[in-house]
Amino acid sequence: MKDSSCNTENLERKFGRRRMLAVGAGALGLGTLATALPGPAAAEPPPFEALLLMCIDPRFVNPTNEYMLQRGLLNRYSQFALAGAAAGAVSQHWAAWHETFWDNLAASIELHSIDGVIAVNHRDCGAVQIAYGPDAIATPEIETQTHERILGTFRQEALRRHPGINVETYLMALDGSVLQIGPST
Ligand SMILES: [Zn+2]
Repeated sequence: MKDSSCNTENLERKFGRRRMLAVGAGALGLGTLATALPGPAAAEPPPFEALLLMCIDPRFVNPTNEYMLQRGLLNRYSQFALAGAAAGAVSQHWAAWHETFWDNLAASIELHSIDGVIAVNHRDCGAVQIAYGPDAIATPEIETQTHERILGTFRQEALRRHPGINVETYLMALDGSVLQIGPST
């Protein structure tokens, strides 16, 4: 005897096509439709947050992403890498890269509705030495000052292009700890 409650057509009419696709064929076969259906809260994924700008230095790939995960941003950020991180977006040494980065930020804002950009520079950055000279990171104090200038310019450029965007700028140490540079927005 045919059970009309398990008829796909009837269920689609009752719950709608999108919910049917979400439930999947496996759940239907079990006859536990009520528990398999996602509730209203589960149907809304968390919004995308920000674009991350990081350096290409292999030592910092995992620590930088680990930092983002610790902030609860798994699958909620875009990622862009340039030699020197923010230095690649503002240093005259790499002027040809600037518009590529800013165009990508604009695209992520448009496509993913993000409202923030997070730049994570790091200590012992060879790219910063290339762009600003070896003396730019001669001591930890001078190095911090160099990154304050780079990240300050980055903040200005981001806000000039996208007034009101959240700009977060950090300097990561070799142990993965981060120092916030400048204000948090
Ligand atoms: Zn670097």
